[in-house]
Amino acid sequence: MFNNLSEKLDKALHVLKGHGSITEVNVAETLKEVRRALLDADVNFKIAKEFTVRVKEKALGQNVLTTLQPGQLMVKIVKDELTELMGGDAEGLNLSGAPSVILMSGLQGSGKTTFSGKLANFLKNKKTKKPLLVACDVYRPAAVDQLHVVGDQIGVEVYSDKGNTDPVAIAQAGIAHAKANGHNVVIIDTAGRLAVDEAMMTEISNIHKATQPQETLFVVDSMTGQDAVNTAKAFNDVLNFDGVILTKLDGDTRGGAAISIKSVVNKPIKFIGTGEKMEAIDVFYPSRMADRILG
Ligand code: GDP
Repeated sequence: MFNNLSEKLDKALHVLKGHGSITEVNVAETLKEVRRALLDADVNFKIAKEFTVRVKEKALGQNVLTTLQPGQLMVKIVKDELTELMGGDAEGLNLSGAPSVILMSGLQGSGKTTFSGKLANFLKNKKTKKPLLVACDVYRPAAVDQLHVVGDQIGVEVYSDKGNTDPVAIAQAGIAHAKANGHNVVIIDTAGRLAVDEAMMTEISNIHKATQPQETLFVVDSMTGQDAVNTAKAFNDVLNFDGVILTKLDGDTRGGAAISIKSVVNKPIKFIGTGEKMEAIDVFYPSRMADRILG
């Protein structure tokens, strides 16, 4: 995960770590390398620039040049800033409703159905939760079947209504079914499209209004880099969602989406997907991710 970025940041900071005494020139050069590493990882230009400005200010504020181990202090400052950029403290799910409703949004292929299953499994394993999955993709029967396969695999009931072409009605019936059958969490999987379009946005917005979810989650494929950030912005403008799910972090992603998304939409990344299996889900901890990136 993020091997290239890790390597480049390590190299950038290595120069500083090796120096007995550090000059302003060393620091400036290092920050330039850090910025280059972020840009190579597909972090947006403005975010990368602001990042290095903040690191520089902190370094000056903490008199980095006069401390005993300036290199280590610089690494710490970069790590802290990276953590802050990715969201500061980890944020959990709001599961206060009876039942709590979790609405999944995102483009087709982003990993919504897979993640719906992973989350249901994750919550089911907490013992106090009895989730229900609801299939609201009325365009692709295969998507409904896929959710049933996932449900069977993890032993979680799936509510669907294949003849029904109204996703709002299915979502509402799903919630009613949950109430009647003792499910305390409802996870609604919705239809995505290949790109942002008005019909999809209207549909998800209508489901959102009708179901009043405690958590609206936006699922995005981390491999799509800057596009991931643009898509997040489009969905957030319509849904004002509560959190982001970054999928496919097990792949060859450069990491830009993970680093940029929080500062563009100001919503936390709550979970990450790290594989196709139902167990490949992790709570997102910005500080752990920063540790991982900076080695
Ligand atoms: P949806 O159209 O948004 O519901 O997306 P799907 O859940 O069908 O996922 C699309 C493809 O991505 C499927 O082949 C999944 O197995 C795969 N996928 C989903 N999440 C992950 C992940 O975290 N890592 C990897 N490697 N593949 C994933």
